[in-house]
Amino acid sequence: MMADLHRLVAEITAEMSAAAVRGRVADYIPELAKVSPDHFGMVVITADGREVAGGDADMDFSIQSISKLFSLVEALSRDADAVWARVGREPSGSAFNSIVQLEAEGGRPRNPFINAGAIAVTDLVAAGEDSRAGIGAILRLVRDLAGDDSIASDGAVAYSEAATGHRNAALAHFMKAHGTIDGPVDTTLSTYFHQCAIAMSCRQLARAGRFLMNGGIDPATGHCIVSPERARRIAALMLSCGHYDASGEFAFQVGLPAKSGVGGGILAIAPGRASIAVWSPGLSPQGNSLLGTAALERLAHGMGWSVFNPDC
Ligand code: GLU
Repeated sequence: MMADLHRLVAEITAEMSAAAVRGRVADYIPELAKVSPDHFGMVVITADGREVAGGDADMDFSIQSISKLFSLVEALSRDADAVWARVGREPSGSAFNSIVQLEAEGGRPRNPFINAGAIAVTDLVAAGEDSRAGIGAILRLVRDLAGDDSIASDGAVAYSEAATGHRNAALAHFMKAHGTIDGPVDTTLSTYFHQCAIAMSCRQLARAGRFLMNGGIDPATGHCIVSPERARRIAALMLSCGHYDASGEFAFQVGLPAKSGVGGGILAIAPGRASIAVWSPGLSPQGNSLLGTAALERLAHGMGWSVFNPDC
């Protein structure tokens, strides 16, 4: 199985690195527009602890919305009832930054992975404190999970997003008007922009996802990060909501719980089998990595990894 995995990762890396059609790099955050679309990296960590890497596996990129997974874990560990009192658990079928649905539904975001839902979750982590407290807590969690204290938020990306994040500001103010968020909007947004600006490599990200392939226990430390039930539920949300209005298509093509970000990264979980991170900055029209998705499709089919596969 390991020989197959090594060969498959090498084949996928060669294919994706040479692909002519690579998607469009996000340019609505000016700092992200500077990243070359030529990159491709992937890391697969298996349940027995082996790491198989390809391409730009150790190059940092902006994790963007993949951070929503970590802020959700942090908020759930503080007060799960408060999380579910303010955000739903339904796929949105709308763009990641849609305003219209939030207004139609009285200021309650559909799920924690669209921008509005993530801002509402981050507000619970920031809890009206100095904005450094919230981002500090999220960074501590990510560093612990990845086993790497060097992971940091990229100040230039956070500044770039804050300077242009008018839609996110609109969502936050609208939710404040509805009582969906408690804290000062500026503090919550600053925390959100800094969490999105966390820079990680595929290797660090795949390590940070290990607890989800392993029923909530970090296999590197033996620490219980979340209960088995919560790990299953987070995976359910990743599958149903992790790719915005392309979540159904991703479940259809790949069949694994995963969370994407507009930096071009995707963290995917094959429960009991592997934690997988891929990165290629060019995006589909829905804001998901084009080649990252194609790579996961090839990997999942090649290894027979799918939550819908009885043998997985
Ligand atoms: N920071 C991005 C935003 O709020 C996150 C979007 C994404 O990665 O999908 O627009």
